[in-house]
Amino acid sequence: SDIILEAKNIKKHFPIKKGLLLREVASVKAVDDVSLVVRKGETLGLVGESGCGKSTLGRTLIRLYEPTAGGINFDGQDFLNLKGEALRKKRKNMQMIFQDPYASLDPRMTVGQIIRQPMDIHDIGTNAERTARVLELIELVGLRKAHVNRYPHEFSGGQRQRISIARAIALNPELIICDEPVSALDVSIQAQILNLLKDLQEKLKLTYVFISHDLSVIEHTCDRIAVMYLGKIVEIADRDELFKNPKHPYTQALIGAIPRVGHGKKKMKKSLGGEVPSPINPPSGCSFHTRCPYKMDVCVSQTPVLEGEGKHQKACWLTSAPVQTQNGI
Ligand code: SF4
Ligand code: MG
Repeated sequence: SDIILEAKNIKKHFPIKKGLLLREVASVKAVDDVSLVVRKGETLGLVGESGCGKSTLGRTLIRLYEPTAGGINFDGQDFLNLKGEALRKKRKNMQMIFQDPYASLDPRMTVGQIIRQPMDIHDIGTNAERTARVLELIELVGLRKAHVNRYPHEFSGGQRQRISIARAIALNPELIICDEPVSALDVSIQAQILNLLKDLQEKLKLTYVFISHDLSVIEHTCDRIAVMYLGKIVEIADRDELFKNPKHPYTQALIGAIPRVGHGKKKMKKSLGGEVPSPINPPSGCSFHTRCPYKMDVCVSQTPVLEGEGKHQKACWLTSAPVQTQNGI
């Protein structure tokens, strides 16, 4: 099968506890009923405003967070029921690259020790083999062998992200969750890191779930894109199709808010009107209805599900896509 991971009806709710008895008084519905597939070798983008649940979904897909409900199939196995050694083995196949290469690298460890650590933890190879592999990885990510005994603080942000990437690929994973991997970097460095990720994907047959709030980074990087809003996927399609023919009013607003050359920066809030509601008490029905200019009665009373022909799906009660204006909504 060409599917590496399938998530069904995933929920991740974080309880809010109060009082001496820590009674659960509410929960943050960070991910609320998400189903998706990830295909081998693709880059699937997760995009949305901050707080929409994309990072939580990414972490939940590889069980850095245990889902509150739902199922995950990884490479034909029921991933959520794996335990002990079987789980440890599977975990080697999935890695994560984080936004902040300053915070995610231990400042007391050398570059060599950092890259070697996954091999030490999983007890892979002899000492000499691990050392040889570290040097190979250092070159693969565009650093120099002479860097092996240096410390993270001696490197720039882009170089640190290269170190994180070397660590992430050390065990030959199949799937990497990239959570805002270039958001902390200067724009001039972003393209270099994105190109490195692309090269490694081709060389090592990697599959990426690529999380970003930045639609132009997503457009540059992803084969398929899922748009998230308040813990749900509201639209999913191939990249070109999504940008040419966005069907969900939220996607249209996001795309309308991409800064274009010569137009200056338009803030999403402006084109959308209003803030993202709280994921503790999301609006009834379609959770976008508080900001949607096309709201109908049904939008308030009933939750739309993701549906549509073929590869392009949206969760919206409108039967046809509203005509887009130049400035989004
Ligand atoms: Fe707007 Fe209704 Fe569609 Fe939600 S379901 S996006 S409120 S038209
Ligand atoms: Mg995030």
